[in-house]
Amino acid sequence: MRQPGFNTDWMQSQSDGLLALNGLDVALEEIRDRLITEGRITGQDGLALLLHEDLGSILSMADICKRARFGKDIHFNLNIHVNQTNICVLACKFCAFRRGRRAADAYAMDIEKYISEIEPYSDIIDEVHSVGGLHPDWDVGHYCELFRRTKQRFPELHIKALTAVEIKHIASLSNISISDTLEMLSEAGLDSLPGGGAEILVDSVREKICKGKESSQEYLDIHRSAHNLGIPTNCTMLFGTVETPEERIEHLLKLRELQDETNGFQCFVPYPFLPDSTRLPEAQLASANEILRMIAISRLMLDNIPHIKAYRMNIGDAITEMAISCGADDVDGTVLQESIMHLAGSTAPLDHGIDDMCRLIERSGCDAVRRNTVYNKFERVIADRVSRRRSLPMVN
Ligand code: SF4
Repeated sequence: MRQPGFNTDWMQSQSDGLLALNGLDVALEEIRDRLITEGRITGQDGLALLLHEDLGSILSMADICKRARFGKDIHFNLNIHVNQTNICVLACKFCAFRRGRRAADAYAMDIEKYISEIEPYSDIIDEVHSVGGLHPDWDVGHYCELFRRTKQRFPELHIKALTAVEIKHIASLSNISISDTLEMLSEAGLDSLPGGGAEILVDSVREKICKGKESSQEYLDIHRSAHNLGIPTNCTMLFGTVETPEERIEHLLKLRELQDETNGFQCFVPYPFLPDSTRLPEAQLASANEILRMIAISRLMLDNIPHIKAYRMNIGDAITEMAISCGADDVDGTVLQESIMHLAGSTAPLDHGIDDMCRLIERSGCDAVRRNTVYNKFERVIADRVSRRRSLPMVN
């Protein structure tokens, strides 16, 4: 039986595409048939896809599912990352960004400094994405003031900020509930939450790679609270550290279950561990094939999360180009400045404008669609014609 609320318009197109796929072995045929008849595959199916040798067919299935919903459209956004502080009271093993308070290169931006980081880009971005360390002194009052003054200066800018563990830390420092913290931040100007910090939502894995961080249940509860308050959020997965294939699937199932309940996740961002400068020598790392497989399986398993993102800052432009042909419908983003992934070894370019994003998407035979953060305004754009504004107006 199909899950409640399933959109049958794109389901029909998905079924037609999947039925036309030839050369599947018995195991993949069964999974394909379940997608067609039930619209949802099982955890066992997900595990089989993770371990199956026919990667090409898995990528094709994911591309068919993506095209059924979005055709050739690939979304992207114009944004900047401002990481407000690298001072953190925790020390997650995979993290190359955090510093102790007394480290020579520790920093904490005051509000004017934060605003001055946005200023040079304010005419060419729609969103500021801000995550950072768990600063020992910054409570809810500090962040409310930060967001209020940022909004006063840039009223049109969407503020996507603070991961679940930052929300937990701020609530704890302020001695108020998670829900009250979110409500106060939202009133001050916080528009949505990023999905960072999910890592793998299995506590035994978290104990090994990010001891002291929020538990799996706390991550889910904080996102649930945000959804209940009408604050949209994203969700992520950091793979390639110490987790097993079963634990990756458990992670996906937990997110899918919460999404069934709240429908508050906008997009899912799977990204691999980057090893430089970090303290996790036992990590498995992830090949390009594995990154593409994980993106494809995300599309196939997370039938209720509309957007699967290729996180360019982490996987680079070359793999991003391939990812949008195997399940991803979204590329984040122009970014323009970023610290966390680059300190961990990313070499993704930080100078992309609209033209560069369009070219990246068009090189894969797809069409570039600029979107806002909450996916309710879209503009179709074409490389090299952007400067002449041969684009459609933003429509609601
Ligand atoms: S991942 Fe976040 S919480 Fe963990 S050490 Fe780094 S900055 Fe701190």
